[in-house]
Amino acid sequence: MPSSTRRPVYLAELSYPAVARLQAQQPIVLLPIGATEAHGPHLPLLTDVYLSDAWARRTQQALWQRGIESLIAPALPYAVTEYGADFSGTVSLDAETAERLYAAVLKGLLRTGFSSLCVLNSHLEPAHIAALRSAVARLQQEHAGCVAFPDQTEKRFARMLTDEYKRGNCHAGRYETALLLACQPQLVDEERRATLPENPADLVGAMRAGIADFASAGGPLAYFGSPAAATVQEGDAIYARLVEIALLSMSDTWPTRLRPEAS
Ligand SMILES: [Zn+2]
Repeated sequence: MPSSTRRPVYLAELSYPAVARLQAQQPIVLLPIGATEAHGPHLPLLTDVYLSDAWARRTQQALWQRGIESLIAPALPYAVTEYGADFSGTVSLDAETAERLYAAVLKGLLRTGFSSLCVLNSHLEPAHIAALRSAVARLQQEHAGCVAFPDQTEKRFARMLTDEYKRGNCHAGRYETALLLACQPQLVDEERRATLPENPADLVGAMRAGIADFASAGGPLAYFGSPAAATVQEGDAIYARLVEIALLSMSDTWPTRLRPEAS
């Protein structure tokens, strides 16, 4: 990231008068969403939350470069995480609870005076994505055009990401490990990472076949792909694409605020 970056603005750190002042500039609220879920023996349980937080910080810098104010809402660290549920520390919500939680938080942000929300999610389990999509759709019905959801599992966005991501082996492998190295390197267990062989098991294929947990899908250590191959440089390059994806989705949602060519 360039050295001229501004300090991130978190809703959590502002007083209510400071929020009211910022609201006069119609900021975009970035809502990071992740999970509390096993991510291999080398990454922390909150990996997806750290990934979404870093995505939000970098998106905020890109919005500032376009003269647009934003703030980062407190991240949601719980999701439907059934695939990892057998591993210590993983906390899975049922789909109905997750959908209601996301819809309620989005609604609460609108009620307190924000009008433009953007969901930045890094947990890619299909049932979780479905819950999130339906929470966003529910809100859009009542308040059209209030939420952008740059869903990286959408084909047009997925094709902008790495080969490992496109193959679907993106749980705690090279893709996610690179992203965590680029934002929270101290949380990557480097000694353990160096010992992990590539796991070529086809997670997406297993999901399609109805297999519902990491071990049965061929990931007994809760990772797929090649964590040992990840680098900080690749992580930074992936974040650049993710920021592009966020800007594309926001320019679809608010074409007069973010011109498509601006991305
Ligand atoms: Zn993850």
